[in-house]
Order: sequence, then C-alpha cells, then structure tokens
Amino acid sequence: MKKRDKFWLDRIIWIFLVIILFIAVSFYNIIELNGSYLTEEKAEVNIFKKQIEWAITPILKKQNIIELQKYCDDFKDDREFAFRIFDKNKNLLASSSKNRSLEIADDDSILSKTKHSLWDLYKHSFKDNSLEQTTELNIDNSKYYIEISISEEFVIKSLINAQKNIIILFGICLILLTLFICHIFLSIKKSFNSLEDSVIQISNGRLDTEIEIPKNGLLHELALAIVKMTNKLKIQIKRLSKLEQYKTEFIQNITHEIKTPITAINSAIELIEIKNEAVGINKECLDIINFQTNSINKLAEDILALSEIDLKKTEEIKTLAPVNLTKIAQQAIKYHLGLNCKINLIKTEDITTDANADLLLMAISNLLSNAVKYSKSDKIDVIISKEKNTATIEIKDYGIGIKKEHLPHIFERFYTIDKSRSKEKGGSGLGLSIVKNIIELHNWNITVESKLNKGTSFKIYT
Ligand code: ADP
Repeated sequence: MKKRDKFWLDRIIWIFLVIILFIAVSFYNIIELNGSYLTEEKAEVNIFKKQIEWAITPILKKQNIIELQKYCDDFKDDREFAFRIFDKNKNLLASSSKNRSLEIADDDSILSKTKHSLWDLYKHSFKDNSLEQTTELNIDNSKYYIEISISEEFVIKSLINAQKNIIILFGICLILLTLFICHIFLSIKKSFNSLEDSVIQISNGRLDTEIEIPKNGLLHELALAIVKMTNKLKIQIKRLSKLEQYKTEFIQNITHEIKTPITAINSAIELIEIKNEAVGINKECLDIINFQTNSINKLAEDILALSEIDLKKTEEIKTLAPVNLTKIAQQAIKYHLGLNCKINLIKTEDITTDANADLLLMAISNLLSNAVKYSKSDKIDVIISKEKNTATIEIKDYGIGIKKEHLPHIFERFYTIDKSRSKEKGGSGLGLSIVKNIIELHNWNITVESKLNKGTSFKIYT
C-alpha cells in the first residue's frame, strides 16, 4: 500500500471510530431517558395505588360490591391507568375497564425491576399492550388484590415512538454525515494525489509537468504556489545553463589561446632538434622547455575535455548509441602498446551498451594510462563482464596501490597523491575527474578498490 493511501485510510478509520463512539453515547442516552421515564411512571402508579387503597378500604369493609364497581366506574374514561380488584381466590370483584379478561395478570418485570433495558421494553410491546402490577391488600383478615395497569399507548408506545423518531433522525444524520465526509475525502484525495504525482515528476527534473489546479478548496492555493515556484525554477535553470555555457565557452577560448603559442613553441623546439643545433646546457634547457610545454599542453587538453563533458551534461546532448565494449577496450589498449607493461583483455561475451563511444574510449584510456604511469605493474587486466542487465568494465593493475586515505579524494579535480611524481609523469590531476564526469554523463557508476603493493582495481558499472 502506498504511503499516501495509508494516510487516507488512517483518517477514514479515525472518523468511523468517532462516529461509532458518537452512536454508542447516543444509545446510552436514549436508554437512560427511557429508564427515567419509567421511574416516573412507577412513582405515579404507586401514588395511584395508595389513592385506590385509601378509597376502597371502607367499601370492602362493608363488602359493598356495587359501591366498589361504582368507584371503579369513576375511572372508566381514564386512558392512562386502569385497575381491577380481585378477592382472595383471584375472582374479579370490580374493574375500571370493561374489555379485559377475567383473570388476574402476572406482574410485569419492567415495573418491578429497578433497571430497564430498551430491549425489555421492545420485547414487551410485541407481546402485550399494557404493563401490569398487582399488590395484595389485607382488610379485616381478608385478602384482596389490586391490579393496576398502565396503557401501552401512554407508556411504551409513546416512549418507543419517541425513540424510533430519534433513531430514524439520527440514522438519516449519520448517513448524510458519512456521505458528506466521504465526498470531502474523495475530492481532496483525488486533487491531493494528482498534485503529489505532479510534484514528484517536477522533483525528478521534469519541470514541464502540467499541474492540475483544483477550482477551489484547500489545495487551490498550494497548487498555484507550486506552479509559480516551477516557473521561477525554470527561469533560474535557463539562466544558470546560459551562465554555464558562457563559462564553458570562456574556458574553451582561453585553452585554445594557450594551446596556440604552445604549438608554436613546440614547432620551434622540433626545428632546433631536427637541425641538432642545441648542445650542452642549451640542450638541457631545451628539454626542460619541451617537458613544460607538453605539461601545459596536456593541462589545456584536460581542461578542454572537462568543459566539453560539462557542456554535454548540461545540454543533455549525450549522443548515446549502441557501442561494443570489447571494441572500445581493444582501441584503448592499442594506444598503450609498446610500453613496459602487458595489457590483457578478458571478456566473457561481446557486450553492447548505449554510450558515447569517444567519451568511453577517453575514460578507459585515462584509467589505463594511470595504471601504466603510476602503478609500476608489469601486467594490467581489462575485464569485461555482464551480470543481469549491468555490464562491468574493470581495469585492474598489480602495482603499488593507493593508500586508503587518498581513495575518497582521487576523483577530485587537481588532486594528486605525489605532486612531484605526478609532474614528472606529466599528470595534471584531472584524469580521474574526467573519468568520473564521463561516468556521470552516462548515469553509470564507478568504484575503486586498492591495496598497498597489491594493486588497484577501477570498476565501471553501466
Ligand atoms: P593525473 O591526471 O595527474 O594522472 P589522476 O586524476 O588521473 O591524475 O589521478 C590522481 C592520482 O591518483 C594520481 O596522482 C596518482 O597518484 C593516483 N593514481 C591514479 N591511478 C592510479 C593507479 N592505477 N595506481 C596508483 N596510483 C594511481
């Protein structure tokens, strides 16, 4: 699951938990309301019972059933309460309502219990339409029963109806709330995801990515700000690449200007050498001049190479094409033949990969000439292999190696381990920096491993 999907899922779960908590609290309140309503009813039943007891005691003492019925008839229009009086054998003596059976009803647990659940009430309303409570009455050693019933219409029905209405209203609110929340979430999620996708594309360098701006809402301002930022970034990058171009052109012009007099000096030296006119001290001076001009020439060429690679990197004119790695390696080896070193080419198969052939040749040549110049190894291996989709070019020597502390710096511009030795070998300190830049231009990787007096291995991973 994507991070952002988990984010939205977490929020939705939290909202649903809050809704469930809200439902639970509401139900608890409904049940509490229901309980307090019934407690009130029970109190009323008790008062009513006391009134009846007080009124019928003298009548029962007289055993006057007609008067008893007359007293009951006074309540025949009461739609909330009804009562009946039974003798000790539970035979009906008098009743305030006519349409009831002759038998005495069992006590309803709802009226005798102190706590009532909503479920008890619902259960009752399905099987009966009134709540009854019976109490014993002892008069002159005779037992009587008073059965009081509360009409369902007044107790349960009204209670249940009120509850039903509350629940229906609550349900409708809940559905509307859920739909509303889902709508908000989905609309924000869609805009947010599309914005996030665009920002990721932009951060990957695709500044022309179109950003969908939501018409209104939270993300409208944010999307506008991102568009503004991207436009500013594009202008800055254009300016920077223009500056980079000027800088490269400037370096190229200077190096060309340096190379022209150097070429002239070199030609003059060659002429003197051909004519064999320099002898003794003059010959020594001429050799020094020759060596120094060659060094300057090499430096100018390296600077020129670096600036050209930089230009290619920024303008992305990489001109990559399928290149046979073996052929490029053979060509690089050819440049180093005739030196006091044997160069072996070891390959498992012919590997073709997309590359800039000239630059790759320059990179392998630089690594080879370093191995020849600095390692003092009499053998160098160039190993070409492939694993999965990655081809590897390894240049391995068995020479003096490089100290651990130098390894992190050898790809830096103008970094040399032993300045005087480097000068003596005609090095500028730019060779490995050129290699690194060529590798970066291809989006490849280069690693170096070295052990003192065992040798050094440079590996290019395509
Ligand atoms: P340069 O252009 O002067 O040859 P590089 O940037 O190519 O400089 O190399 C930097 C330093 O790394 C050199 O001064 C050299 O001492 C060291 N070096 C590079 N390759 C090797 C190698 N194969 N064995 C030993 N030392 C090396």
